[in-house]
Amino acid sequence: MSASTPRSPSYLCPACRASVARQDAGYHCPQCGRTFPIICGIADFRLAPDRYLSLADERAKAERLHRFARDHSFAETVAEYYRITDDVPPAMAERYARNVLAGENRASEVLSTLVAGQGNLPMLDAGCGAGGLVVAAARAGHRISGLDIALRWLVIAAKRLEEEGLDVELVCADIAHPPFPEATFDAVAAIDLFEHLPDTAPGATALYQLLAPGGRLLATSANRHTLAPHPVAGLWGIGYLPAELRRRYVMARRGIDTLRYLQLLSPRMLKNCAKRAGFEQVRLDPLAVSPAIGGSALRRLAIGCYRALRTAPFTNRLLLHLGPVFQLTARKPVASISNQRNST
Ligand SMILES: [Zn+2]
Repeated sequence: MSASTPRSPSYLCPACRASVARQDAGYHCPQCGRTFPIICGIADFRLAPDRYLSLADERAKAERLHRFARDHSFAETVAEYYRITDDVPPAMAERYARNVLAGENRASEVLSTLVAGQGNLPMLDAGCGAGGLVVAAARAGHRISGLDIALRWLVIAAKRLEEEGLDVELVCADIAHPPFPEATFDAVAAIDLFEHLPDTAPGATALYQLLAPGGRLLATSANRHTLAPHPVAGLWGIGYLPAELRRRYVMARRGIDTLRYLQLLSPRMLKNCAKRAGFEQVRLDPLAVSPAIGGSALRRLAIGCYRALRTAPFTNRLLLHLGPVFQLTARKPVASISNQRNST
C-alpha cells in the first residue's frame, strides 16, 4: 500500500449533480444522459474545454503524451510537453519546465500552512497541474485528490505518481463544475488557480461547497501590482498597463500573448472574492517560501532576505502588495449551512 489511501470515489454529474454510474469506458449520468469518458486512465468530467485547446485536440495531446510517457521518465515527459507545445515562448519554456520539476520542493510550505500537524486529511489540490503538491502530500500521508481542467497535465502528473509508487485519485474537471459531493474535503489548495479562471466567483463558491465546515483553503496567485517581473510573462510592470497596451507589449517581447487567458489579480481582489463566497478568517500574506528550495548562492541569499522581510509586520505588508506572488488562507465557517448557495 502507498503512503496514502485514496478517497473511495463516488462522483456526481458536474452538470446536474445526480450520482453517476461507472460503466466500462467511463461514467454515465442517469438523470441528464451525459457520459464522461475515462481517457489515459483518468475520468474526464469536463463539460467544456479550457481556453487553449478544443476537447478533441486536448484529448489527442494527452494521449500522445501518455504514449510517450510509457517509455520515458517524468522529466523527459515534461520536456516533451514543451517540445510539442508551440504557443509557449522559447524564452519561457525552460523556466516553466524548471518550475514544474521543482513543484514538489515548493509543496512543503503549502502543506505546513494548510494542514500543519494533521495527518491523513481528505485534501483537494484544485488545479494540480503536473502534480508536485499531490506527490508531496501523498508521501506525507494525506488523502489528497488532484483536479485539473487540463487532461494533458494530469497525464504528466500520473507519470510522476507512477515513478513515486503512489496511488492518488486524479480527476479532469472544471473547478466551477466539480464531480465531487459537497463537504468532501477538509483542506483545499488552489495554487495559482484563480488567475486561470475566466471568472473567480464560481470557482470560489465551488471550493467553499467542497470544503467541510471548518475546512481550510490556501490559494496563491501572481500579484498584478508586483514591482518584480510578472511570474508568467517574465516582464516588469505589466500589471500597471491598460489591457491593450499590455497585450501589445507582451506580444512584442514574447511573440505570444502569454497572459491572454490570465486574469491579473491583486491581493485585495482575491480577498473580496473569498469573502463573497462565504469564507471567514481570510488572511493575506506574501507567498511562504521554503529555505530548502536551493539554487545558486545568490538565489539562496535572495530567499533568505525575502524570508526575513516576510516576518516583520511592515515589510510583510510591503511584500504582500508589491511582491511577485501572494497567498490567501481562509476557513469555511464551522456553522455554515452548506446548501445556502446554489449548487449548480
Ligand atoms: Zn447529469
